[in-house]
Amino acid sequence: MSDAALLAVVIAAAGGLFAGRAWTASRRRGERLGFRSSPHYTEGLHCLATGQLEAAIRELEKVLRDHPDAIEVQQVQSHLYREVGKVERAIEIHRRLLSRRDLSRAERAHALANLGTDYRRAGFLDRAANAYADAMKVDPRNLHALAGQQKLFEEQRQWREAYEAQAQLMRLRKSDDGLVLGFLQAELGQEALRAARREAAEKAFRTAVSLDRRVFPAHLALAGLWAGEDPRRAATILEDAIAAVPERAYLAFAPLQQAYAAAGEPSRFVTLCEHIVSEDPRDWRARLALARHLRAEGQATEALGLLLRALDANPHVLLLHLEAWRTLRELRPPGPEEQRYVATVEQSALYVDPHICTACRYRADDMLWRCPHCHEWNTFVEERVGPGAGRV
Ligand SMILES: [Zn+2]
Repeated sequence: MSDAALLAVVIAAAGGLFAGRAWTASRRRGERLGFRSSPHYTEGLHCLATGQLEAAIRELEKVLRDHPDAIEVQQVQSHLYREVGKVERAIEIHRRLLSRRDLSRAERAHALANLGTDYRRAGFLDRAANAYADAMKVDPRNLHALAGQQKLFEEQRQWREAYEAQAQLMRLRKSDDGLVLGFLQAELGQEALRAARREAAEKAFRTAVSLDRRVFPAHLALAGLWAGEDPRRAATILEDAIAAVPERAYLAFAPLQQAYAAAGEPSRFVTLCEHIVSEDPRDWRARLALARHLRAEGQATEALGLLLRALDANPHVLLLHLEAWRTLRELRPPGPEEQRYVATVEQSALYVDPHICTACRYRADDMLWRCPHCHEWNTFVEERVGPGAGRV
């Protein structure tokens, strides 16, 4: 489902929610659903469903001209303004709504929570925190306000508060948020590590892994804690991490290679890579790691053979081309023009190792645990372009 379609469904659901509440309220306060008979309302919904947000805004404006008291339409309209980047208009609508005396408790809490999100989007973090807190005072179980507070804590890197808010959300929603809680514990571990509190850090990383084994950075950090004094133990932790999340294995390659070498067993890295290659004929990360290992050991011809096989199935992977050039350079020193050409290509490559957020399509040249755009956890995957495209 595209972002716009998803948004339309969410907004339509929000509209339905308010319409439902308004229906109950309308018996008390007279007719508040008259707007539904407006042709502009129908047209506005159609625009929403087809992702034409600006057109939907125009249609709903027309509805509001005839039905200025339609709370539901104002709520949907403010969502739309926020989504198209006109946050100041959304703030204006919510403030106007909040000045009304005929709002139910739920409507007031929801408007306050939305105002908090408007402020958060506009970068007024203190005002956002206050609006969310006010919403919680009106309705302590308002999920929107609690989720907004949680995101605000995350954005301000207040990991303890973010963890507690997430735990409360999980209780209220009766959902399983172990993965997010695990990532927040991993952040708490990193914080303890920076403050040189090793024991607290280790405890947080262990909690993270016990909450959800897929919290890969917690495995990496735990292995890092043991790398110096007990490389065998570090290697075991990393092997467990790969077993838990095979698709992230490549993130453990470098520390694992070091741990095996420190333990005096460098050949185990070769065995591991060969095993991964035999399991997945399309894999290129293990082939690349193995090729680098072989080149470092002076076996450039074997390394090149591996790279060429990896390129057969993954001709779009720039990292493989870069490594192939480096290996070729060792086998046959190139002339000055060839060197200049390769240097130009290396410098002009923008996305050497492209990753993409599966939630919002944000692109990055690295693996990120939390998306800087939509703020979701663990949503990044390797972006496949070229022949393997469409597998994201
Ligand atoms: Zn994202």
